[in-house]
Amino acid sequence: MPDTAPNSWEARAAAHSFYGFTDLPSVRARGTVVVSHGEGPYVVDTNGRRYLDANSGLWNMVAGFDHAGLAEAAQEQYARLPGYHAFFGRMSDQTVMLSERLVEVSPFARGRVFYTNSGSEANDTMLKMLWFLGRAEGQPERRKILTRVNGYHGVTVAAASMTGKPYNDLFGLPLPGFIHLTCPHYWREGREDETETQFTARLAAELEEVIAREGAETIAGFVAEPVMGAGGVIPPSAGYFQAIGPILKRHGIPLIADEVICGFGRTGEVWGCQTYDFTPDAIISSKALTAGYFPMGAVILGPELADRLQAAAEDAEDFPHGFTASGHPVGCAIALKAIDVVLNEGLLDNVRALTPRFEAGLARLAEHPNIGEWRGKGLMGALEAVADKTTKTPFPGKLSVSERIANTCTDHGLICRPLGQSIVLCPPFILTDAQMDEMFDKLEGALKQVF
Ligand code: PLP
Repeated sequence: MPDTAPNSWEARAAAHSFYGFTDLPSVRARGTVVVSHGEGPYVVDTNGRRYLDANSGLWNMVAGFDHAGLAEAAQEQYARLPGYHAFFGRMSDQTVMLSERLVEVSPFARGRVFYTNSGSEANDTMLKMLWFLGRAEGQPERRKILTRVNGYHGVTVAAASMTGKPYNDLFGLPLPGFIHLTCPHYWREGREDETETQFTARLAAELEEVIAREGAETIAGFVAEPVMGAGGVIPPSAGYFQAIGPILKRHGIPLIADEVICGFGRTGEVWGCQTYDFTPDAIISSKALTAGYFPMGAVILGPELADRLQAAAEDAEDFPHGFTASGHPVGCAIALKAIDVVLNEGLLDNVRALTPRFEAGLARLAEHPNIGEWRGKGLMGALEAVADKTTKTPFPGKLSVSERIANTCTDHGLICRPLGQSIVLCPPFILTDAQMDEMFDKLEGALKQVF
């Protein structure tokens, strides 16, 4: 248990910081972990306790917490040009190189990149691009956005409106014009006697119906994660993107892949859309883009949207949007190094090599009578807790059981994330076999303790 004595780091954190996305009753009861430094996939708290971080920070620390090359890339760039000269009328050499590199590693033959500080801002930026385009092309009514229930796209006002989570109601969101379609989770959403293929066909029919009801000419885009992350690691049902892609294309609705979690290797390919074999019109990237060593997001536009937006912006003589730190030279230098580390220094290979062990570990723990399903792709996985395995009845309460499992893991030196009724695992790509086994052994111990 964390230290809660007065003047401890834990007590000071609890007294003066305002937590978001945190189970506050649990913090009140148990205090919190205050991290001081990292060692590979481990973090060490202010009391010297080590935790294997099976959450990769927040899906982002794919190269671990002490990568010397990434720290050096940052130090060198801080010494050369520490900030700005980035985006408004000027651009740093690092930004030029990163845009070239991002287009090169994207699934697009050509494209253009716009930079933000976060994934939420990248999603908001994408929306403003689509809205700008609609007005510029004489279709100002093209404003509605289609997303899915359980999809997560961030916390700024538009990104939160795209997010299909009930907690957004606490803020009076979503804004009007954001339409959430059925989550493509066959295990939970499939009807009795419905095959997975029939389920996918039903979701495609739903999309057609929504487009017919709303009018294709009012819809600006469809935004989807290849694998839903914060929704509880939900891979799409079989053939999902192949079913919806042609419908969107036929109606002239751009498909935007939110690759904030999937991008740069998490699913075993560079991009989640490659894992699921579809080509979107644009990609939203963040997190592993800098291996978590700098806050940065990017909108990568494929050739058609890039050309149309460029033409619209040239006509208007400006695209009046951007952040003070868009294309920050230090962030770009780190991202260039991070892409090298993942693609050329063996991290993506390690994701592929570790995946069978990861899946076997998830499948083994899913034999537990209170685990209803394991899900996963590459190095992102989840175990969903159920009160009754046959009926899939969830435990009561929003988090409770998964929070208890995660807290017990913390007590045993393992950080993993409770999301809804699921425990999510998304370890850094540098994990060894032994560390993978340590992760599952600790989680198994926690399951035994909780149930
Ligand atoms: N999109 C997805 C798929 C995400 O998982 C997240 C964050 O977890 C975001 C967008 C928002 O990114 P950020 O937290 O950097 O704003």
